[in-house]
Amino acid sequence: SVVVAGSVGAISEVIGDLQRAAGATERLFSLLSVESEIRAPAAPKPLPSPAAGALSFDNVRFHYPSRPDWAALEGFSLDVRPGERVALVGPSGAGKSTVFQLLLRYYDPQAGSVRLDGVDVRDADPVDVRRRLGLVAQDPVVFSANAWENIRYGRPDASDAEVRAAAEAAHALDFLDALPEGFGTFLGEKGVRLSGGQRQRLAIARAILRDPPVLLLDEATSALDAESERMVQDALDRLMHGRTTLIVAHRLATVLNADRIVVMDKGRVVETGTHGELVAQGGLYARLAALQFDRADGVA
Ligand code: ATP
Repeated sequence: SVVVAGSVGAISEVIGDLQRAAGATERLFSLLSVESEIRAPAAPKPLPSPAAGALSFDNVRFHYPSRPDWAALEGFSLDVRPGERVALVGPSGAGKSTVFQLLLRYYDPQAGSVRLDGVDVRDADPVDVRRRLGLVAQDPVVFSANAWENIRYGRPDASDAEVRAAAEAAHALDFLDALPEGFGTFLGEKGVRLSGGQRQRLAIARAILRDPPVLLLDEATSALDAESERMVQDALDRLMHGRTTLIVAHRLATVLNADRIVVMDKGRVVETGTHGELVAQGGLYARLAALQFDRADGVA
């Protein structure tokens, strides 16, 4: 078998890693030390085509390489049907983001399996797997490049008209056109700095262009102003439409709109149901919801 980093799509590896590393020293550290550990199979299994977008975690146990005595996921099982919208909720450290990391195959579990459309992700080409997964991170990375390039990263062969259409669907067209050189304006560290809501809409445009069957959404915790919030939410609703979506949820509206809420604690699923069902149960979710959603949304 072949070591993935350095051999397969170096740029996508780096950008994926940057996305993960953004803003988290802990993760930056792990990027430097362990990211090249996964191996691509010598004869990868093709993922079924067309993609359905079914996800399946079966009795997964996983510990991070730096913490061999401590499992981030333990007995984690979850099936997500094509097109289903599942909200992951749980206390900090429950393992929600770790679920994304295993799907994206930044790491492999020590026991159990992670399947995408029925294929164990360890048996597939990691590039194929990641092509089917669209990640919208909490604080998306803006590359040091112009807006065309920033969005086109989602699909390098897209025409200008397609890039603009994606920006429009993501409510990013107006603010991008208003930049000094429009879409040709240099963004990122040494260019025009975007607001949090603008960065999110840029990332949504990227994902719309890419059109993946599965969306992994890490919902922002930081508050945006009401207008920006409304536009981000509307853009996300369009993006999620017709796709399997796994959301690390922080907002009441998100859990209310989910087909199913999956409550995690200490690396496993402890409750599952709708908002109403889970509140009525009076368990962990009910306690979290009372703490988390009251203030954030001014409702419930
Ligand atoms: P939060 O809501 O705070 O983001 P979470 O439910 O997403 O939490 P994870 O980020 O999945 O939780 O983390 C699960 C556990 O694994 C935590 O205890 C965390 O400290 C640990 N962890 C996460 N990333 C790493 C890493 N790269 N190396 C070592 N431990 C890690």
